[in-house]
Amino acid sequence: MKHSILILGGTAEARKLAEKLAGDPRFATELSLAGRTRAPAEQPVPVRAGGFGGAEGLAAYIRQKGISILIDATHPYAAQMSRNAAEAGRLADVPLIALRRLPWRRLTGDRWTEVASVDDAVGVLGKHPRKVFLTLGRQELLPFEEAPQHHYLIRSVDPVDPPLDVPHAIYLTSRGPFAEADEARLLEEHAIEAIVAKNSGGPSSYGKIAAARALGIEVILVRRPDLPAVPSVETIEELLTWLDHVPVLP
Ligand code: NAP
Repeated sequence: MKHSILILGGTAEARKLAEKLAGDPRFATELSLAGRTRAPAEQPVPVRAGGFGGAEGLAAYIRQKGISILIDATHPYAAQMSRNAAEAGRLADVPLIALRRLPWRRLTGDRWTEVASVDDAVGVLGKHPRKVFLTLGRQELLPFEEAPQHHYLIRSVDPVDPPLDVPHAIYLTSRGPFAEADEARLLEEHAIEAIVAKNSGGPSSYGKIAAARALGIEVILVRRPDLPAVPSVETIEELLTWLDHVPVLP
């Protein structure tokens, strides 16, 4: 019998992993998305979208669909979903493996300030007006309304709707990957003095970090949330090797 895999996704890695598994005769794979993006990227396997209703809801879905392997390939900041996955795997008694990319490490020349929350990032920007590039999710932007003195350049996948209640904001909608040269051009064009971002890790959004280093621009990085302690790997290759060792179903 085939293993039924549920990948909790929303990341480039989840899509790449699904691509690898799509043609594999050992597995029937489904990808789950949070359903927040209006026009999600094309996916190589069947997709379901929207919340499950907490850990119990996910456990019920696993049982109902006969899922035999759960893969948490969500974004490193999607901590609630990762906690739910850990709990649901336990409740439904299915093996769970997490695909967690490493965070970026500070290199010589990086001007990073690491903060615990978006609110703290707003505080670090200070009272003096600055030109600030924000690459955060729509739900994370509200705290910047408390600092209307800054000029914001805001980039998101979907439009920020309603826009922030601040007098100076330019909005860009765009989906990565973003090359360093293009990021450097954008930063210079808008005379950016500080960037506020998440430490997403991986190559697709690293361009702005490398460009900021080259241009001497401050980067305020919101630290990663704590994630549950579950078996995990850092790369798709390691995950495929892990799958090679999963016992075959009778
Ligand atoms: P979250 O706070 O961990 O998740 C909140 C709820 O959304 C979950 O409890 C779950 O609802 C639902 N959910 C999340 N991922 C899901 C998935 N793959 N399939 C089905 N339901 C899912 O995560 P978030 O609110 O999406 O985002 C938190 C942070 O991660 C933000 O910084 C965001 O920018 C970043 N991020 C998220 C994604 C993504 O695809 N989710 C992608 C890129 C970046 P139920 O409890 O009802 O099941």
